[in-house]
Amino acid sequence: MTARPALLWFRDDLRLSDNPALRAAIEHGPLICLYIFDMSADRRPLGAAASWWLSRSLTALSEAISAKGGELLILRGDPAELLPRIAHEADVGRVAWNRRYEGAAIELDKALKTMLSEAGVAVESFNANLLNEPWQIATKADGPFKVFTPYWRAARERGEPSAPLPAPRKLSKASLPAALRKQALTVADLALEPTAPDWASGLREAWTPGEDGAQERLGAFLDETIAGYREGRDRPDKLSTSRLSPHLRFGEISPRQIWHATQAALETGKMLGSAGDAEKFFSEIGWREFSYHLLFHNPDLATANFNRRFDAMSWEKDEIALAAWQKGRTGYPIVDAGMRQLWQTGWMHNRVRMIAASFLIKHLLTDWRVGEAWFWDTLVDADPANNPASWQWVAGSGADAAPYFRIFNPVTHGEKFDPKGVYVRRFVPELVGLDDKFIHRPWDAPASALKQAGIVLDRDYPKPIIALDFGRRRALDAFATLRSE
Ligand SMILES: Cc1cc2nc3c(=O)[nH]c(=O)nc-3n(C[C@H](O)[C@H](O)[C@H](O)COP(=O)(O)OP(=O)(O)OC[C@H]3O[C@@H](n4cnc5c(N)ncnc54)[C@H](O)[C@@H]3O)c2cc1C
Repeated sequence: MTARPALLWFRDDLRLSDNPALRAAIEHGPLICLYIFDMSADRRPLGAAASWWLSRSLTALSEAISAKGGELLILRGDPAELLPRIAHEADVGRVAWNRRYEGAAIELDKALKTMLSEAGVAVESFNANLLNEPWQIATKADGPFKVFTPYWRAARERGEPSAPLPAPRKLSKASLPAALRKQALTVADLALEPTAPDWASGLREAWTPGEDGAQERLGAFLDETIAGYREGRDRPDKLSTSRLSPHLRFGEISPRQIWHATQAALETGKMLGSAGDAEKFFSEIGWREFSYHLLFHNPDLATANFNRRFDAMSWEKDEIALAAWQKGRTGYPIVDAGMRQLWQTGWMHNRVRMIAASFLIKHLLTDWRVGEAWFWDTLVDADPANNPASWQWVAGSGADAAPYFRIFNPVTHGEKFDPKGVYVRRFVPELVGLDDKFIHRPWDAPASALKQAGIVLDRDYPKPIIALDFGRRRALDAFATLRSE
């Protein structure tokens, strides 16, 4: 008697190495590798940049599976309907997946586990994408943490993460019933990439989605970029961070792999960075873990203020100012450079994300959810935990958030973190010829300096859309009313 096939359901874990669900599934008979493009009503649809990434990542995964003798079956629809049907039609004996942490996904997985078990299908789930799952770290009173530092201390006390699993050498392929095969789609059928207009050329230049691309990026980071990361990570003018975020978002690499590769590079002396650089890097991975901890305990993190006092805030709704921010035409060069980096490459440096978000929320007094939605649509790393947690951090409405009176000044921050204007000039080419002294405040430049640089303000580059003093005062007044309520 031949064994019933096992089904591996890929979700945010688009890799073959360190994939515990895959490991478990291959131990049981022939394998069906499945990806469902989720169309169910309660899932937040992916943004445009993340859809582009998904398309490329699925292509890479499908090729990697084929190279090992397997096949990736791609379907579109509601997993609650599709998965039990596939299990039935293909006589699946076992289903395995790696866990997710958004409220709707958890509910769906629970319901599926019950449905499949009742139909006589064994279901197994695993942790593939976090060092610690959200419920494994708790306060002494057995509650969730609200502050990062004690959270991370508690996480570190649990010791080293387990060693990552190797990729299977070979994959088997279960034969699919004809009815199912007829429904199989190609990645192209999903139509996830833009065509008219094709705005993705900057993304294609900047990134190599997929597991191999992720490993290459980690290798390059550990070989070169990590040296000086502790201080250097705040400098958008330098190549100073790993840029692993979209790879992590889609699970093309695991934090366990990152952790162990970094430790090994440090211990063997192969890494130019110091132990301090490695520890700082780990703590940034820790912020990602903390965001997932927050999301798990607050499933409405993307829609509701963590601090409910912020519900009383009366935000401005200035469409013209919002469009200027989105297009990188606010007149504040560091904000504009960041917003254009986002548009061109689908990614923005962390320090500039903070400055651009603060400008929108505080100087333009715009609801953080509006900015979160724009980032969700335009970031290749748009993440269900990191994005809302970070926006709430900047707004001051989040857990362990920046205090409301901390308003980033885009001029002084620009001068501090991009002192020679290298970053600004890269993304705001109309300011290329401007003297370093005025690169973060072109409106202060004397007529001669503007003329020499060939710039006419409001023709080549906008004058500031809002005076910083006015915006700051308005924000402080608005936020102060929340304190007194
Ligand atoms: C307003 C705003 C929105 C953001 N939205 C997202 C998002 O949608 N997706 C996303 O992955 N990150 C988001 N971040 C966090 C951070 O900016 C990015 O993770 C980081 O810039 C990614 O670059 P990197 O991979 O080179 O980071 P590195 O410095 O190399 O860090 C390594 C990894 O640690 C994690 N990490 C680093 N910084 C943070 C942080 N502050 N919070 C949580 N995790 C972190 C990321 O997974 C990152 O890939 C946001 C930050 C802000 C201020």
